[in-house]
Amino acid sequence: MQSKKISLTRLKELAKAQGLTLASFTGLAPLESSVKALNDWQRAGYAGEMAYMQRAPELLCTPQNLLPEARSMVSLAVLYEQQAVLERPHGSGRVARYAWGNDYHSVLKARLVNLVRTLEAQMGALITFKVFSDAVPLLERAVAERAGLGFIGKNSLLISPGTGSLFFLAEVLWDVEIEDSVLPVLAGTCGTCSRCIEACPTAAIVADKTIDARRCISYLTIEKRTEFKLWERRAIGEWVFGCDVCQEVCPFNHATLKRGAPQHLAEFDRSQGAGPFLELSEILAIRDDAAFRKRFEKSPLLRAKRRGLLRNAACVAANTLAEVCVPVLIDAASSDSEEMVRTHALWALSELGKAGSRVATQYLDKVQFHDDTEDA
Ligand code: SF4
Ligand code: SF4
Repeated sequence: MQSKKISLTRLKELAKAQGLTLASFTGLAPLESSVKALNDWQRAGYAGEMAYMQRAPELLCTPQNLLPEARSMVSLAVLYEQQAVLERPHGSGRVARYAWGNDYHSVLKARLVNLVRTLEAQMGALITFKVFSDAVPLLERAVAERAGLGFIGKNSLLISPGTGSLFFLAEVLWDVEIEDSVLPVLAGTCGTCSRCIEACPTAAIVADKTIDARRCISYLTIEKRTEFKLWERRAIGEWVFGCDVCQEVCPFNHATLKRGAPQHLAEFDRSQGAGPFLELSEILAIRDDAAFRKRFEKSPLLRAKRRGLLRNAACVAANTLAEVCVPVLIDAASSDSEEMVRTHALWALSELGKAGSRVATQYLDKVQFHDDTEDA
């Protein structure tokens, strides 16, 4: 039986065979430099309703906790669709790029397991391992930075010079040792650039590498489970799920966005999932959870849950003055089983009524609706 060791060159070959774009290793020492920053971020309340981001910083910064037998950690990045920014069709809402195709969790885990099984076959040894993508109590970006995949930009995302930031991150923890004594570091910096800070529609980038998630459209449309305050309804703008603004303005992504889609896994192609736009009327007409699960089977959009996605769709209909949505908003306001959906549908009708929709106004008169939404 051979010893369980691998070189960076061999790892990159194995990763490439699985369609994984970037690959490197790091050791298992705690991510000490991240502990204080995470502690400060949590204390400021920036995590909002994300209980999983409120875990003790020491836990989120200690890879070895996840697999005591581990000898090293692999960090990988996989590109998702990188087409130029598209014009939004009227009556639709925008979806963040990472969610255009199939759910990355299952796609990436299968590829990572294949990578490990291939190495096991070559080594003639069983590997003790765990694979992760996103759903891991660990600071993935800090791991990727230490592994030399890139640097963390002012928008708090990992940027790999020459590749950009439009990728998923994934990890393998395993009892395999690294042969290389020195690993490359991909250095970089934002320099004097501050485009993401200036372009963020909600001023959510409150300091270098610091996002107030409570203001971030990605958090609001995906992770927030409760009713939107008035400013939140307006803040999400055209985004029905996620937000790409701080990546689309980033100079490190310009070349790839201009060039169009380079290599990416077929599962992440827009044809495999929700795509870049959702028709708001179609979403607002989904009346039960079973129909929602069927519509978004294998899609990351399931994360928002039906009630969350309909809440978002109602707000986008109001923000984009999508009068075409009035009939289905009336139906949602009258008969949806969720109070949150009814409330947001009524508010959207009120906004559309103010913008001139007679049908919306007639309905609101009929139900004697008075908009008392407060911007608490
Ligand atoms: S995802 Fe959107 S809202 Fe969030 S920080 Fe980036 S630009 Fe701002
Ligand atoms: S837009 Fe500029 S400041 Fe923001 S992450 Fe990209 S390079 Fe850094």
